[in-house]
Amino acid sequence: MTLDVEWAERWVRTAADAVTANRDELTELDRQIGDGDHGANLDRGFRAVVTRLDEVAAAPDGGPAQVGDVLKLVATTLMSTVGGAAGPLYGTAFLRASKVCGREAIEAPSVVAMLEAALEGIEARGHARTGEKTMVDAWQAAVDAAGKVAGEGGDGVAVLRAAADAADAGATATIPLVATKGRASYLGERSAGHEDPGARSTALLLRAAVVAAEAADPA
Ligand code: ADP
Ligand code: MG
Repeated sequence: MTLDVEWAERWVRTAADAVTANRDELTELDRQIGDGDHGANLDRGFRAVVTRLDEVAAAPDGGPAQVGDVLKLVATTLMSTVGGAAGPLYGTAFLRASKVCGREAIEAPSVVAMLEAALEGIEARGHARTGEKTMVDAWQAAVDAAGKVAGEGGDGVAVLRAAADAADAGATATIPLVATKGRASYLGERSAGHEDPGARSTALLLRAAVVAAEAADPA
C-alpha cells in the first residue's frame, strides 16, 4: 500500500487508540522507575491530537495535504499538551520527522529518513545514547532495522514493519539496563529489572504505523 496522507492520519488515530488501550501498562512501568505519569501524559496528548486532526480535516480547505503536515500537527499538539520529559522529546521527534516528509506519499527511503530524523531530534533534545535505558534504545533499534531492510530493497511497509519489530525488541532489551538519563536514573542500580516506559510507548507508536498500513484496503 501507499504510505500517503490517509495512512498518516490513520497512523495517528491508531496510535491514539493504542496509547489509550495501554495507558495503564505505561503508567505502571513509569510507576516502577519514574513518577507514574507516562500513560496519562501520552493519552492526554494523543486525545488532543485526534481532536485537532478532526478539526483540521473538517476545515473548508480539506485537511492536511502532505504526510509532513500530519506529523507536524502531532508534534505541535504533543509539545503543548504532554509535558514531562516525553512531551518535548516526542514533540521534537515528530517535528523533525515532519520536515523530511513534505510529500503526499512516502516510500522506503523516506521512511528511513523519517525515523532517522525522529531519533536525531530525541538525541538533540535529551542527550541520551543507546544503552541508557530510554526511548532512544527503541528508536535506535528501529532506525538500524529500517536502514537494513530498505538497503535490501524492502518497500515502505516492510521497512516500517522491521522498524516496529526492532523497536519492540529494543524496548524489551531495556529491562536489564541501568538508567543513566531521565527520572529513572535517580534510582541507579534499582532501575534494572524494569522496562523503560518511553521505549515501550515508542514501540506502540511504531506498531500503530504498521497496523495503519495493513488496514488499508488493497483493492
Ligand atoms: P517524566 O520523566 O518527566 O515523568 P514521562 O514519564 O512522560 O516524563 O516520560 C518518561 C520517558 O521519557 C522515559 O521512560 C524515557 O524513555 C524518556 N526519557 C526521559 N529522559 C530522556 C532523555 N534524556 N533522553 C531520551 N529519553 C528520555
Ligand atoms: Mg513520568
